[in-house]
Amino acid sequence: MIYADNAATTKLDLDAYELMIPFLLDEYGNASSQYSFAGFAKKAIINSRNSIASGINSDPDEIFFTSGGTESDNWAIKGSALIRKDKGKHIITSSIEHHAVLESCAFLEFLGFDITYLPVDKEGYVKPEVLKKSIRPETVLVSIMFANNEIGTIQKIKELTSVTHLNGSLFHCDAVQAVGHLPIDVKQLGIDLLSASAHKFNGPKGVGFLFIKKGTKVLNWASGGKQELGYRAGTENVAGIVGMAKALTNNIRDLQKNEDYLNKLTDEFVFRLSKYNVDFIINGGLHRLPGNVNLSFRNCEGEVLLHRLDLHKMFVSTGSACTSGKAMLSHVIQAIGTPGEYAYGTIRISFGKDNSRQDVILLAETIAKIVESLKK
Ligand code: PLP
Repeated sequence: MIYADNAATTKLDLDAYELMIPFLLDEYGNASSQYSFAGFAKKAIINSRNSIASGINSDPDEIFFTSGGTESDNWAIKGSALIRKDKGKHIITSSIEHHAVLESCAFLEFLGFDITYLPVDKEGYVKPEVLKKSIRPETVLVSIMFANNEIGTIQKIKELTSVTHLNGSLFHCDAVQAVGHLPIDVKQLGIDLLSASAHKFNGPKGVGFLFIKKGTKVLNWASGGKQELGYRAGTENVAGIVGMAKALTNNIRDLQKNEDYLNKLTDEFVFRLSKYNVDFIINGGLHRLPGNVNLSFRNCEGEVLLHRLDLHKMFVSTGSACTSGKAMLSHVIQAIGTPGEYAYGTIRISFGKDNSRQDVILLAETIAKIVESLKK
């Protein structure tokens, strides 16, 4: 098989898997318990928090474990906006955010907040000057993603946080696609809240974290016990947390090597595909997630292409995995204004470090053949 959908999820890191096993079998003590049997789990959580914090240059007590990207986004947006509702009820986000952000904003809209959805240019960039014009004294939160999950465009985060802070507003960043793939320094970038998800960087599914800058007020997300400083109660997913920390450490160690390799793979793929007689355009900006190639084929159906590739055991996505199944243009492809005759023929390929040169050559050839046959 050729798995080229690493933006949807990634294969578990082997070191992470091995570190997780004891916590699933023998070391099953509840980390909140007082006796020594819980000590190993407690220590593992502390170590994991430390290594995750150093991976994004935060302090350990700024890392809060969650169930993944969706929960982190919901908590960051609802928790920071609702606690500030007396200061203002205006939120700014972009039109190409993940649904976890868009739906959290829609929920707040229902509660009386006013949401501005910033447009993006045709490469998917949010312009800092457009953000500047949209900020009002009552803007309490700006939420803009680090890198887009469909087209891979990486935003100019530092410029966006600077503009946001001029007004004293908070900046939340959905960095689910970026953590473990791009260098991230929350202090240098000026990020107040940052969402991440382990399964996007070779960690296990169902675990993630929210970075909350010290001193930033947010509502507690889950009430109950004292876990996560009382902000997110619930017995910790120790194996998940340990696996996430190890996967992140390994990915950060290999960041440059992986980026160089994935850039080579995508260049080769595009080079090969362009040798065939197929009419396509590449969506997204030049500054893109490593391994991401979002393509639109003229007069073609992305869904049909995906299913034909599936027959060859080649796995790609149309738009984002979360919206596939709905026969409609993705909101991202609409926002960047991909021309109509191409837009419906969009697929997202996201290569990972386990893909080989042979994979990209074979995938390019197979796609070209299918597109050619669909024309006939
Ligand atoms: N944000 C972005 C940008 C994503 O790509 C995803 C997953 O596709 C999420 C949030 C949701 O993350 P999770 O699958 O961990 O809930």
